[in-house]
Amino acid sequence: GRPMKVAVHLHPYGEGRKLLLTRDITGVEQAEVMRRDFVANVSHEIRTPLTVLTGFVETLQSLPLSADEQSRYLALMAQQAHRMQTLVSDLLTLSRLEGSPLPGGAEWTPLALLAAQCEQEGRALSDVLGKAQQLHFGTAPPFEIAGSVSELLSALTNLVSNAVRYTPAGGAINVEWTVLPDNRIEFCVRDTGPGIAPQHLPRLTERFYRVDRSRSRETGGTGLGLAIVKHVVQRHGAELHIDSVVGTGSAFTIVFPAVRLRPATVESRTAAL
Ligand code: ADP
Repeated sequence: GRPMKVAVHLHPYGEGRKLLLTRDITGVEQAEVMRRDFVANVSHEIRTPLTVLTGFVETLQSLPLSADEQSRYLALMAQQAHRMQTLVSDLLTLSRLEGSPLPGGAEWTPLALLAAQCEQEGRALSDVLGKAQQLHFGTAPPFEIAGSVSELLSALTNLVSNAVRYTPAGGAINVEWTVLPDNRIEFCVRDTGPGIAPQHLPRLTERFYRVDRSRSRETGGTGLGLAIVKHVVQRHGAELHIDSVVGTGSAFTIVFPAVRLRPATVESRTAAL
């Protein structure tokens, strides 16, 4: 590993005595570097759509344009504005997740409810992108989960929307739920997309880390999706596993711990239908 850097402080300690305090500042420095990178990334991510937006404004102001052209430019501007909205909303989500612990007190939600929402969003996104993919959504087991519904939903839908976005038209996406022998429950999203080379896997959940910057942009990515997933997973005592083979596809799996699961009551089972 890298050598530990040590800051030495001499503190007056009682009458004429000195206490030598040593402290590893490597972590502090690392945190500072990460903070600076983060600010640079955010600025860059905001500046890009902003530059495009100002460019279009200038065009609209300076050129005589037909009504058709005008509405085309306005649509492109709306797209850039929407991009910035998504970015800001992901940033806020992330800072909430990093800044406060999961509220205590159990809120139980049927997995079927999360699954239904997930399926609806996945199918809608695939349609909007005109991908004609084969989407398969397996049935959620009759269990309830304790946690934040909005956080859990954002984690699950992030994995599904990544699969839809990165898998080309005509590809397949399979979403499966499995109850494991030790009563944990697995949620797995498998796609036939481009796959991810092994060297990227360790860094994939870092904020703004992307394998292919331009492809991520094209597909409307903020680069924050998997960072959000990672935090939600950690906060719920779950695990995230990523298996991927370049040219074949990827599988993203969340394993929920048994302590957060209980069999669904009859009422909640019917409510989810
Ligand atoms: P983004 O908004 O860029 O999709 P994410 O944090 O969700 O950000 O994902 C980080 C990166 O991981 C993506 O830019 C992409 O390179 C890669 N990635 C995520 N999901 C998939 C997938 N299903 N198939 C291939 N690559 C993926």
